[in-house]
Amino acid sequence: METQNTLGGAVSYSGIALHTGARAHLTMKAAPENTGIVFRRIDLPGAPSVRAIASNVVDVRRGTTIASGDARVYTVEHVLAALHASKIDNAFVEMDGFEPPIADGSAKPYLEMIKEAGTVSQLEPARYIAPSETIVIEERDTQMVFIPAEGPLHITCTVSFGATPLDTQFLSCTLGAEYFERDLAPARTFVQFRELEQLLTMGLVKGGSLDNAVILHSGAIICKDGQRYSNELVRHKVLDIIGDLFLCGARVGGHLIAVKPGHPTNVQLAQKLIAQNCGKA
Ligand SMILES: [Zn+2]
Repeated sequence: METQNTLGGAVSYSGIALHTGARAHLTMKAAPENTGIVFRRIDLPGAPSVRAIASNVVDVRRGTTIASGDARVYTVEHVLAALHASKIDNAFVEMDGFEPPIADGSAKPYLEMIKEAGTVSQLEPARYIAPSETIVIEERDTQMVFIPAEGPLHITCTVSFGATPLDTQFLSCTLGAEYFERDLAPARTFVQFRELEQLLTMGLVKGGSLDNAVILHSGAIICKDGQRYSNELVRHKVLDIIGDLFLCGARVGGHLIAVKPGHPTNVQLAQKLIAQNCGKA
């Protein structure tokens, strides 16, 4: 029987927060069985908790924000992707603000934290969730088709942003810890230049720089030290899907075909998957 896992110890990471530009600290700690992933705002009185579950999602613009009461946590998807891929079912994630450190815009630093902490097997059986019937979501130019399938999560993803011919990219992959570490975790977040101007006008992305994002501008892909993969953009989108789907509160299986995915449709998919499985229970 495959059992639930937690972390072998507490690990911390500090860095710049994307929107405020302030220094942010994040600590991951072990949690008991059936806790799930729970964020804690240790900067607020009483250190309120927010469970990483789709029903707690309050905003999906630019990133996935969860909240419970007055406690909000922004941009949870990269931390969740690293935990999901590492099969860490139970953990507390303590933060001293509403954003995790953006690091290099990828999931790599979070994955390194998890590896440093190590994994501890627990006694309860691991929980998996997968579509029992095909789920289809179509919204604007996004299509998501989630098909029942045995085995680990398989994602077939196509992206196209129209900024440069180089930004039409494709990836088909099966989620495994080694694949995630080598082929997905280092893929960085990206932004279109015209969106960046808007975000700056809104007083956001104060901590944004080429240290933590790839920029699509005037038919070119602008980034520090070259692209990490010839299709880094689609790899990052797949990373985001893996993170957002962990909002099901269980490891996810099935075969997902995603065309031009984004946080709104990723989260809808998690909600539909939960609803479908609750209906069966
Ligand atoms: Zn992302």
